[in-house]
Amino acid sequence: MRLTSPPKPRRFGQLQVAGEVSILELDAHAHPGLQKGSNGTQGNAEGGNFCVSSSSLDEILSEMVIVVPCKDEDLDVIRGVIAAIPHACLVILVSNCKRAEDDAYEQQVKMVHTFAGYGRQILVIHQKDSVAAAALQASRMSELLDPADGRIRNGKGEGMLLAIAIAEAFCPEKRYVGFVDADNFIPATVSEYCTAFAAGFAMSRSPEQEDTLVRLRWNSKPKIRNGKVEKVEQGRCSRIVNNWLNRLFASEAPGETLNPLITTANAGEHAMTMALAKKLRMAAGYAIEPFHFVDLLVRGRLEGNTSSSARDVEGSNRTETSTKPLDKPVTVRQIRTCSPHWHRESDDEHIRHMWAAGLGSIYHGLAPYRAKNGAIKQLCKDMHAYAVNNNGVEKTTGQLPCPRTYPALETMDITTFRRMLRRGMGKDSFHALGLDSSEED
Ligand code: GDP
Repeated sequence: MRLTSPPKPRRFGQLQVAGEVSILELDAHAHPGLQKGSNGTQGNAEGGNFCVSSSSLDEILSEMVIVVPCKDEDLDVIRGVIAAIPHACLVILVSNCKRAEDDAYEQQVKMVHTFAGYGRQILVIHQKDSVAAAALQASRMSELLDPADGRIRNGKGEGMLLAIAIAEAFCPEKRYVGFVDADNFIPATVSEYCTAFAAGFAMSRSPEQEDTLVRLRWNSKPKIRNGKVEKVEQGRCSRIVNNWLNRLFASEAPGETLNPLITTANAGEHAMTMALAKKLRMAAGYAIEPFHFVDLLVRGRLEGNTSSSARDVEGSNRTETSTKPLDKPVTVRQIRTCSPHWHRESDDEHIRHMWAAGLGSIYHGLAPYRAKNGAIKQLCKDMHAYAVNNNGVEKTTGQLPCPRTYPALETMDITTFRRMLRRGMGKDSFHALGLDSSEED
């Protein structure tokens, strides 16, 4: 793969954010004019080129889990997404489709079975799995459960967290985890996304040296208007959340020109080192992607500056442990794809809900720092005013929604979780294909 050269990342304490790079060629070979870099890469900072060899990409893909959160997408659409994930990746499909009606989940499981027998590794689970809920309860992750029925709460973020816990429990040798949405009408783009994740990791130092978060920006979102295809560069939600995140990062780098540094606030397609996936606090539902930036800035920069007072506000020991400053550098890489992204069109209400959740995660995630940091205080005030003017606040409170945030998964008892889920395999909704799941703990 050939990409534009990675710009020098901007530093915010332990967090580094690199500006966007673009894919220039999906399949490109190393060129003698390019210097040799780490991880089998070749680069030339001035020449605007950066090549990653196919063998390096393949090696990284073989160490990667790809999670597909799905809900009520057509079976054919989900099948297409799975079919396009590179064979070397282990796949985890987490479904939150309605279970009682028309056996949609049974159909999804049957479809997944059609991939078995060809050396493919796939795990599939329903978000409302009773064994998974009991296993989370027993392994100190009860925050994920809905007290009303004791099952895992609804939400994309919740499904993704369940999948990360499963990846850690059942394939601890994998070093990377990536996420691709199931509502994607063009399967081949999924193949590009997974390869782009691998290229992002290839640009970084090894997971032992630093953690990496790779986020993709779709080349465009095509719309059909008056019988013509129009390319929309930025989605309606991304435009808003990117803008506020850029203001936040600019306030932390006074005097520097950063904009637009953040172009991937709501990147459904993203991947990270497993170590980072266990370390990050994650937010519920659609706040999960923008909140990555908040948690990283808080723990990479703000916690380091104002540590004890900010953590005292948060309270419990568990929260304190998971907001501890980052122990290792984290680099965010943003990659613009070659292909446009064609997916289910969302209505205005859905978009409003998504950006309000994103802004809410920034507004409330920064709450402990408002008193000490004048720029953050002003930013939050302006963000609230924007939300009031654009119908983004909750009617009952007049505030931006405050998304639930979960403790980092590293605080859970993964051995108990693995043991309970393995014993319950096949009893409710969890199936593992192509894995040796019979081994004992
Ligand atoms: P958008 O495409 O960003 O507008 O958001 P969508 O509502 O289409 O969701 C993106 C992805 O998340 C899709 O693949 C959905 O099926 C999936 N998703 C949404 N809600 C849930 C959920 O509660 N659980 C799971 N497992 N997936 C979800």
